[in-house]
Amino acid sequence: MDQIKIFAPATVANVSCGFDVLGFALDTIGDEMHIRKSDKKGITITKIVGEDLPYDAKKNVVGAAGYALLDALNSDAGFEIDIYKKIKPGSGIGSSAASAAGTVFAINKLLGNPFNNTELVRFAMEGERLACGSAIADNVSAALFGGFTLVRSYAPLDIIKINTPNQLYATVIHPQIEIKTADARRVLKDTVPLKDAIKQWGNVGGLISGLYTEDYGLISRSLHDYVAEPFRSVLIPGFDLVKQKSIEAGALGCGISGSGPSIFALSKGLENAQKVADAMKEVYKNIGIDFYVYVSKINTEGVKIIS
Ligand code: ADP
Repeated sequence: MDQIKIFAPATVANVSCGFDVLGFALDTIGDEMHIRKSDKKGITITKIVGEDLPYDAKKNVVGAAGYALLDALNSDAGFEIDIYKKIKPGSGIGSSAASAAGTVFAINKLLGNPFNNTELVRFAMEGERLACGSAIADNVSAALFGGFTLVRSYAPLDIIKINTPNQLYATVIHPQIEIKTADARRVLKDTVPLKDAIKQWGNVGGLISGLYTEDYGLISRSLHDYVAEPFRSVLIPGFDLVKQKSIEAGALGCGISGSGPSIFALSKGLENAQKVADAMKEVYKNIGIDFYVYVSKINTEGVKIIS
């Protein structure tokens, strides 16, 4: 095999109570990438369609992630990469993670699968280090493993793939506002009051259990965040109303996707997820902020080979 075309999914991280540890992959939103073996050593970005991103591989997460993999093998191999970017950078649905995960998945395939998924996560995390300054694992884990993923530990890296109930759908709205990652970090507190921590880990346990037993009521009761959302939500105009209207429209829960500005909701069944989309749209139409909205089944496969 000399070339491969892949779909690299958008992902939702910081899933309510799973702040910094839980993520999931989306099915209908993602980038396409074409990767070919080349005689020229290293990574060459040959095409970027859809967004204005650096062609210099050292400045693009594609290079950061790809070179991390090649360096681990001490490899002289060369690859050309075309990126068809559909996920807007800075949207909060893992734009950089999709490129990083897609790159390491494809190169690994073209080299005959020397690495397992957890090892690929570690390489893709180098892309995240370039994009946001820290090597976070939640988006790239969800993109590579698919479904819901739990980053149980960073040292050693321990990623657990969690069951995804069949009727679970996500609605994501991306209001066209900018939130600086630095601001989203700054508003968080260094410590968590014990009473909030107790509620948070009760909900994490409940959510994981609900996902395995496909208990939508338990999933709904567990989708609450006492650690990040109370502080970060003030950065997103309309967040409280979007959340209220989503729940009224039938969502199981609603929260900030990544560090925002996108907001996600989970629902049982496509019809409910579409009603939630309508409710979310209405809020931003009334406020006068432009938006993109997506409804998607949870992608349980992760990065997919197109051809
Ligand atoms: P979010 O998770 O909020 O969607 P990202 O993690 O995608 O945001 O971060 C986007 C940052 O990463 C931008 O500064 C962008 O310029 C940089 N970046 C570098 N290479 C890529 C790439 N291939 N795809 C997306 N963003 C990239």
